[in-house]
Amino acid sequence: VSHIVIIGAGQAGARAALALREQQFNGAITLVGDEPYPPYERPPLSKDVLVGRAGATDALVHPESGYSAAGIRLLTGRPVRALDTAGRRVLLADGGNIAYDKLILATGARARALELPGAQLPGVHCIRSAPDAAGLRAALLGGARKLVVIGGGFVGLEAAASARSLGLEVTILEQASICLGRVLPAASAQVLADLHCSKGVRIQCGAVVDAVVGEHAVAGVRSRGGEVLEADIVVAGIGSVPNIELAKSAGIACGDGVLTDFCGRTSQPDIFAIGDVAQFQSAWSHGRALRLESWDNAERQARLVADVLIGREPSDTEPPWFWTDQYDWNVQMIGLPSEADSLEVRPGGAAHQVSHLYMRGNRLCAAVLFNRGRERRPLTRLIAEALPLNPAQLTDPAMDLRRIA
Ligand SMILES: Cc1cc2nc3c(=O)[nH]c(=O)nc-3n(C[C@H](O)[C@H](O)[C@H](O)COP(=O)(O)OP(=O)(O)OC[C@H]3O[C@@H](n4cnc5c(N)ncnc54)[C@H](O)[C@@H]3O)c2cc1C
Repeated sequence: VSHIVIIGAGQAGARAALALREQQFNGAITLVGDEPYPPYERPPLSKDVLVGRAGATDALVHPESGYSAAGIRLLTGRPVRALDTAGRRVLLADGGNIAYDKLILATGARARALELPGAQLPGVHCIRSAPDAAGLRAALLGGARKLVVIGGGFVGLEAAASARSLGLEVTILEQASICLGRVLPAASAQVLADLHCSKGVRIQCGAVVDAVVGEHAVAGVRSRGGEVLEADIVVAGIGSVPNIELAKSAGIACGDGVLTDFCGRTSQPDIFAIGDVAQFQSAWSHGRALRLESWDNAERQARLVADVLIGREPSDTEPPWFWTDQYDWNVQMIGLPSEADSLEVRPGGAAHQVSHLYMRGNRLCAAVLFNRGRERRPLTRLIAEALPLNPAQLTDPAMDLRRIA
């Protein structure tokens, strides 16, 4: 292989380029992205950036000068328009093209757009990119008093926590019967809902929004039934849509993402997909294809695809990992709780510390840690090893998990 081209200069794309170099790949690497910045990490966008603890592109994946130093050609502000798979070329929107031997699609996802009357009014925000976060930060500081968040997923809840910390009145409207229901089991999701309520956030579940109202800017959100909730700012946190268009029009198999095996191989031999855009076969989900939108998944798949491309056996031995920070809480999720059939609660030593341990039979398959990051390593090991465990030991707060892991 003499030239690897990576489309999408976000976290997964940048990490793949760097991993290839770390693994001594000595052909050419081109990393091409449409954003005008060097690759940056998105987790701070809904947290530190909104409360003013960080700038929107402060969290660079790697120092900008490091790409050329590593012999990686980084092209920013260059959208890719199409793939010519027969001619093995990437076609750029500006008319240029780049030949490749192997291609990695790391095009990520975009925020799902709110498709409602009034959704285009000034004051309606989403959070995916640095400009999104900077724009929302400016709006939050611009005299706004009332924020309505549509969608009680992680991004929505993080935005709610940030805005509440800045003193806004915050209401979360969630269509389902519970916030975070898509990603966390009810018992764990409820802990976070309770946290928000204790901070004065109002949560309305079962809320079906049918319009954003206002004349020249947002004035409120109307629910089915006619009730209008006043708002100066609306944040839509209604999920994401994977950027699969390039792959799809090139005939690569797609579902809710570009379909891949566990290490990024797509239906076309020379083309790989990683990060938020990939829907992959995970060893952790009993064959169910997953699209995981997490920092850890972007890092992990970048390493795996680099292994494949340099001819090393790829191996993925750790369960997926995700974290969220809301107010002064840190919540981490290891493994896939959707695979569990029972819950054990492991109390922590201090206030607000607790671990939810999700079992499949007598094996640990996932854990949600509330302010207990220190237990991540031993719990990751216990999940990875999948040995039979005694729940009484796991839930004994005096038991140091490192002794059984
Ligand atoms: C607000 C927010 C908060 C988050 N918080 C957390 C968190 O707390 N914990 C956690 O684990 N994860 C979090 N995540 C998830 C994590 O940031 C993502 O999973 C990660 O960014 C995925 O990396 P990626 O490279 O696959 O996609 P991205 O980072 O989206 O990068 C994809 C890049 O490809 C570019 N691109 C797309 N199409 C083209 C094209 N045609 N031509 C050129 N370039 C293109 C995009 O513009 C983008 O720059 C958060 C995400 C967001 C948005």
